[in-house]
Amino acid sequence: MKRNCSLDEISDGKLYGIDDLVEANCNGCKGAAACCHRMGKSIILDPFDIYRLNVNLNLTFEKLLADKIELNVVDGIILPNLKMTGLYESCAFLNKEGKCSIHVNRPGICRIFPLGRFYENHGFKYFLQINECNHNSKTMKKVSKWIDTPDYKRNEQFIIDWHYFLNDIEEIIKNIQDENQIKNINMFLLNTFYIKEYDTVADFYTQFNERLAGIRKVIG
Ligand code: SF4
Ligand code: SF4
Repeated sequence: MKRNCSLDEISDGKLYGIDDLVEANCNGCKGAAACCHRMGKSIILDPFDIYRLNVNLNLTFEKLLADKIELNVVDGIILPNLKMTGLYESCAFLNKEGKCSIHVNRPGICRIFPLGRFYENHGFKYFLQINECNHNSKTMKKVSKWIDTPDYKRNEQFIIDWHYFLNDIEEIIKNIQDENQIKNINMFLLNTFYIKEYDTVADFYTQFNERLAGIRKVIG
């Protein structure tokens, strides 16, 4: 999800690379899991998030849609996000002890929080969000250690490819007037990247790249 605001309003004004130190270490969360409540529709899930839940929790996209995730339109594109439920608008994966029940397999946005991604020149850097949590005594940690993402280089390339692919789709959709055509494009994307199950014993990135290349052949 893109934000129309200046980096200075929401961050400490710096950009961080994977090997940089950043004051993002929550030390076991002293912020009452604020980032797992009232997040609205902002925790958008990418295809790898769904694959990870599928492999490790045996939860298919359809099963997740029952009560854990929901679909929303983001910049013209239908995408899944984590569902916030109940009086306190809690993430459906938050347990009674206020801990993430899927910590090891949590989605990418949860892994990097309170960092966000700033995209430019077909790549991205991280920035530190300063208005999202009232826990003010975070400590320094290397970005790579904080986001704890195996096979980082391939994951980074996937994040870049997915982001710029969605940008291209957004531009295409903007120029289409026919609502049915927009709906058909959205259903095709959802089916291709989320609903059609991935082989859970095979490498995710290879499967994603094949699906993406198939669509790129058509849209350029
Ligand atoms: S950002 Fe705040 S609420 Fe979220 S895990 Fe860190 S300390 Fe907890
Ligand atoms: S998946 Fe886990 S870390 Fe992410 S919002 Fe839900 S409970 Fe919090």
